[in-house]
Amino acid sequence: MLGLRVKGFCAVINETSGAPLRDVVILGIGMLPARLAEKALSTGHAEVRVDSPVTGLDYDGARDCWHVRCEHAGQRRTVCGRRVVSTIPLTGLLAILPGSGGGAEPGLGRDLLYGSLICVFFGIDGARVSADHWTYFPERDIVFGRSSEPANWSAHMTPAGKASLCCEVFCTENDAVCRIGYAEALEAVRKHLAQWPALHLAGRTGAFEYMNMDGVMEQGRALAGRLAEAP
Ligand SMILES: Cc1cc2nc3c(=O)[nH]c(=O)nc-3n(C[C@H](O)[C@H](O)[C@H](O)COP(=O)(O)OP(=O)(O)OC[C@H]3O[C@@H](n4cnc5c(N)ncnc54)[C@H](O)[C@@H]3O)c2cc1C
Repeated sequence: MLGLRVKGFCAVINETSGAPLRDVVILGIGMLPARLAEKALSTGHAEVRVDSPVTGLDYDGARDCWHVRCEHAGQRRTVCGRRVVSTIPLTGLLAILPGSGGGAEPGLGRDLLYGSLICVFFGIDGARVSADHWTYFPERDIVFGRSSEPANWSAHMTPAGKASLCCEVFCTENDAVCRIGYAEALEAVRKHLAQWPALHLAGRTGAFEYMNMDGVMEQGRALAGRLAEAP
């Protein structure tokens, strides 16, 4: 798969034929993980659970396995496995590791601040506002940094005869300052987590790396390949 920006809209094309994958364009990027889940389930060896926040991770050194505690529809459950791949934001992961941080230094990860976003949506009577996927507003006196028009990704995003506009206000929770020195903080967290070689980080928030969809998918594939080859 290849993500592509074409004349102001985003399409997903087949890598070999170059033809647009129509279903994905209409129904959205969520179709990709949905198809992967279908394929995994069809092997009979996989279980897929959504809406199940992970609330705790315990490492059992004697058995060399992880106990992952999660909740679903008010029920608690523990899943065991030899390897864990985490997409939980790093600061959240640190908070649920063994012993609330696994013997971490006090303040570990404190300087890893995730950017936040306030989305203000407008419903508009009539045709679309522009033909663009995104428009950036770098001016200091404009409170939002980017606007987007969901119907330009898929006509299914708005009722017929209506348009919508999303204005994104980039911010940081509780204040509006980006901290410098995060690279050292990230390195300290990575060093701390290296005590568990079977705990893998993945994804934009999980690995604290500013990746787009294609980068995240590529990283996921590479990690899956390494895990499949590992003893
Ligand atoms: C407004 C916006 C616009 C974007 N536009 C684009 C774009 O046009 N093109 C592009 O390529 N990328 C875009 N991105 C970036 C893209 O969305 C991310 O790179 C991508 O979704 C990251 O994938 P991920 O799997 O790392 O993280 P996510 O998709 O965030 O997945 C992380 C998963 O972990 C789960 N999780 C977290 N904590 C827990 C827990 N405790 N227990 C269980 N599950 C948990 C979350 O529920 C989530 O499902 C955009 C991002 C934003 C916010």
